[in-house]
Amino acid sequence: MYGQPIRVSELDTNFKHEVMAHEAAHDITACFSCGTCTVGCPIHEAYPEYDPRKLARMVNLGMRERVLSSSYIWYCATCHTCELRCPQNVKFFSVLNVLKNMAAKEGYAPPSWVNQTQQVMKTGIVFATEEAWVERREELSLCPLKGDGEEAAKLMRLTGVGEIQPRAQL
Ligand code: SF4
Ligand code: SF4
Repeated sequence: MYGQPIRVSELDTNFKHEVMAHEAAHDITACFSCGTCTVGCPIHEAYPEYDPRKLARMVNLGMRERVLSSSYIWYCATCHTCELRCPQNVKFFSVLNVLKNMAAKEGYAPPSWVNQTQQVMKTGIVFATEEAWVERREELSLCPLKGDGEEAAKLMRLTGVGEIQPRAQL
């Protein structure tokens, strides 16, 4: 995603407006690229190539395809530090959620996320339960793990989440 020259022909000037249409992401154009979000981001500390400031800039420039197809938008640890520290009141965490929803609708959700979604739709539980866990819970007199896949599937179909499919190249 990074390091490639930007071609004016690939820019979509409407992209930021699409993002801003979501109330929580409305202030994205107020970003003045100070980098405060990046220096406070724990994921940036672990993976320096993950850069919220750069992603915000790319959105404002209209780099739609590169942003939505980027695996970086899925790195966020949802800690909200970027939002708390932004001097321009940009809700970058919310911007990321908007981007992830857009990316998922366009088939860019990573297969691991899609698999997890399908698992929830099937069982109502995020992770597949293993026989050993079930036995261990019984030994410890803990209640059995119960999910309601039917209810989860109903909600996901209503919100469109159930339609998400991964792209082969991701
Ligand atoms: S802290 Fe706010 S203004 Fe600064 S780069 Fe990040 S989003 Fe932009
Ligand atoms: S919410 Fe995400 S992008 Fe923002 S600081 Fe935390 S990990 Fe980084």
